[in-house]
Amino acid sequence: MAPVRVAVIGAGPAGYYAAEALLASETPLVAVDMFDRLPTPWGLVRAGVAPDHPRIKSVSAQFAEIASHPRYRYFGNVELGRDISRDELLARYDAVLYAVGARSERRLGIAGEDLPGSLAASDFVAWYNGHPDHAALAPDLSGTRAVVIGNGNVALDVARMLLLPQGELSQTDTADHAIAAFATSNIREVVILGRRGPAEAAFTTPEIRELADIEGLDVGVDDPALLEQPLPPDTPDIKRIQRNITALAKYGAGRVDGERRMRFRFLRSPLEIGGNGRVESITLGINRLETEGGQTKAVDTGERETIATDLVIRAVGYRGVPLPGVPFDEASATIPNEQGKVTGGEREYVAGWIKRGPSGVIGTNRGDAVETVERLLADFADADSKAAAQDEISGWLRSRCPEMVDHAGWLGIDRHETGLGEPSGRPRVKLVTIDAMLGVARTATSADELQTQD
Ligand SMILES: Cc1cc2nc3c(=O)[nH]c(=O)nc-3n(C[C@H](O)[C@H](O)[C@H](O)COP(=O)(O)OP(=O)(O)OC[C@H]3O[C@@H](n4cnc5c(N)ncnc54)[C@H](O)[C@@H]3O)c2cc1C
Repeated sequence: MAPVRVAVIGAGPAGYYAAEALLASETPLVAVDMFDRLPTPWGLVRAGVAPDHPRIKSVSAQFAEIASHPRYRYFGNVELGRDISRDELLARYDAVLYAVGARSERRLGIAGEDLPGSLAASDFVAWYNGHPDHAALAPDLSGTRAVVIGNGNVALDVARMLLLPQGELSQTDTADHAIAAFATSNIREVVILGRRGPAEAAFTTPEIRELADIEGLDVGVDDPALLEQPLPPDTPDIKRIQRNITALAKYGAGRVDGERRMRFRFLRSPLEIGGNGRVESITLGINRLETEGGQTKAVDTGERETIATDLVIRAVGYRGVPLPGVPFDEASATIPNEQGKVTGGEREYVAGWIKRGPSGVIGTNRGDAVETVERLLADFADADSKAAAQDEISGWLRSRCPEMVDHAGWLGIDRHETGLGEPSGRPRVKLVTIDAMLGVARTATSADELQTQD
């Protein structure tokens, strides 16, 4: 019997974990075609996770293993909404599974947010990771202080990357343009702002602790008394919070005159980013905390504070974007679903950040994708495949997207990048333009085709 043919849109962790669960199914047997808008797969593992955390990036080896399955195919440089449509996919596949992540930013909605020198973390992170859409960002690192707004791990990643000692990135896959920019950066102090207190911060403890290992970095909390406030015993996630507070307390007030400084400043809301033609300052509202119905919220005391700064990075969260023709819930910026089946959809499923919103670590996407796939498999338990034949689909894609990058093309890019990295002991040197990627993919695909003909 022909396998049930599923199009997985998005080659990030959710897409791969969904593919893994689909390919493991015996009844029905499933074939997976995975699409990504970029020639390269791996989503935020390639373009989000900080490059000084290579161990975390090494999860990509699992994705490569999943991709080696004989019933898996890859179609890169094909964007749903730009190159192909939802209806075209539904006409050719038994089911379509969206795993497109959340690639936009949440906005602060304050004056000065768009001044030069005020950047979304989503852009900055993509820049240092060599995402081709953001390679030209060229952030101005000529000032001495940066303010990072947000109290999650992305804020910590950004602050750390700005303050790592010279040479620390030379062994990583940080984009070459970013290594060069960080090498001449003047940033010496990063202030991390949280609206609420240390107990409400979303950091995870290892990310706080590892700051102690960064050579020459002074870490400190601007108001260490905040670390001494007792936590109600029924506080959700109390273990993580206690560990965080202990880790922060070890830094205490820190040194304020060190050569490179990371400062945590809690109970501050950004009200306005000021400057004449570019960022020069940020005005903050000073908050106190109030607990109501188990929820701790920040309440404005009316006091204000202005910090001089040359760079503001807004790390207040990612946001999903709608796919043309696919149901979308504006409030949560997700695709509405029941256990991963799209509400109001037709043979459509969803996994990962676009299903549940932009939170959770890479591994969280595995259970999430498995739930979706269980739902999908139950719907197709007794169904005969009505999908188009494999060759018909690749013929259609080739005619629609002549620059489509198949799995051989991606493997060519991968070999090329890792080969460039080898002499200097780097995991890879990333290609950062679509043209460069396509150039390498073309030769790889044709070389592989020649080998097959031999
Ligand atoms: C800055 C940052 C650092 C992080 N660091 C860590 C960490 O250290 N450890 C950890 O465990 N987790 C980390 N995470 C979380 C982790 O990256 C996410 O949980 C995970 O990547 C979400 O997976 P996803 O597949 O839903 O989305 P993504 O990883 O975003 O993948 C979505 C994919 O869909 C593609 N796509 C989008 N739109 C389309 C379209 N229209 N057509 C075709 N393809 C499309 C994109 O190109 C992308 O490849 C980090 C996240 C961020 C933002």
